[in-house]
Amino acid sequence: MMKRRYFLKCLGCGAVLTATSQTGLIPGIIGGIQNAWALDFTHELSDMEARYYKKLENGGVECILCPRHCRVTDLERGYCGVRENRKDVYHTLVYGRPCAVNIDPIEKKPLFHFYPGTTAFSLATAGCNCNCKFCQNYDISQSRPEQTDNMNLPPEEIVSSCLSRKVPIIAYTYSEPVIFYEYMYDTAKLGREKGIKSVMITGGYIEKDPLADLLNHLDAVKVDLKAIRDGYYKNIVDSELRPILNAILQIKKAGVWLELVYLVVPTLNDSESEFKDLASWIKTNLGLDTPLHFSRFYPQYLLKDLPPTPEKTLQMAHDICRAEGLEYVYLGNLPRHPAESTYCPKCGKVLIERAGYRILQNNLKGNYCSYCGHEIPGRY
Ligand code: SF4
Repeated sequence: MMKRRYFLKCLGCGAVLTATSQTGLIPGIIGGIQNAWALDFTHELSDMEARYYKKLENGGVECILCPRHCRVTDLERGYCGVRENRKDVYHTLVYGRPCAVNIDPIEKKPLFHFYPGTTAFSLATAGCNCNCKFCQNYDISQSRPEQTDNMNLPPEEIVSSCLSRKVPIIAYTYSEPVIFYEYMYDTAKLGREKGIKSVMITGGYIEKDPLADLLNHLDAVKVDLKAIRDGYYKNIVDSELRPILNAILQIKKAGVWLELVYLVVPTLNDSESEFKDLASWIKTNLGLDTPLHFSRFYPQYLLKDLPPTPEKTLQMAHDICRAEGLEYVYLGNLPRHPAESTYCPKCGKVLIERAGYRILQNNLKGNYCSYCGHEIPGRY
């Protein structure tokens, strides 16, 4: 086994620490951390037995964690590349093996109605159960764990780091946390026992039973609802729409805080009728007070031939959804746009003014507008 130990020291607020990587990945720590940080890198994958699979009568296993239901023969892996059949026992290869760790503002997730101005210990492993053609993190999401530089970071160390650094939230993010389910589940459970909150940043492609169990230990979920058309999910995401909508409904019903992000990709999911259908689905199924973030696309990965989303398209998406009655519609990746901020739907005053990930003013009193007393949904 090759093992390297890095001791890194962050010099102050906003500093970025990096460790060189074979893949160009940048595992490191961002933020005002004054203490030394030790990172254990390892080339050893985990061999923990996976949860949510069944053995098949004629040999092989069927993974029932996500709707893909991979059937996997001995020594093969499922679609996500991080779960392996060894003599008909299914294993997760990435338990305690993140390839990216950062301390981010919670606004970066983005979660705007969840403890604004706080930070989240954010982590990801290699792998994903989809293959979005626009993926910003394809270098980790489409890699196998052998191809990334992984740390040895068990749940106990994450939680104790949060406690010692006073980071109140853990975020499972960057790639797709569903595929490192066991690691996320155990970390969230332990975190809650110690007073640390957990948030999942996900595409929502997960089966009902594992999601139900996981929601018992999560405090918030941000779902990337990538489109409101099944054809887009099939062609651009290599997935399907219905299970995602079901997962969103399940999260809402469980009472876990929920925000949605819709990445607006020019010519592919940016029509007026799609924005209307999106608003109408949210209004009917989740309620007008569900935060919705429209995010600007930049050419990436397999969609390098498309331009960045024009500002007027994002404005149109925003205006359509506001006209349909949605109360909290945000525009992301448009610095200093007024739609970065939160407004009271009753009196119209600025409640939380943002500039990028920074909070410039916060006029909430607990869950209420400090001007008119209107209740603002979220966790504060
Ligand atoms: S989690 Fe991975 S192995 Fe399991 S069904 Fe989904 S893609 Fe297949």
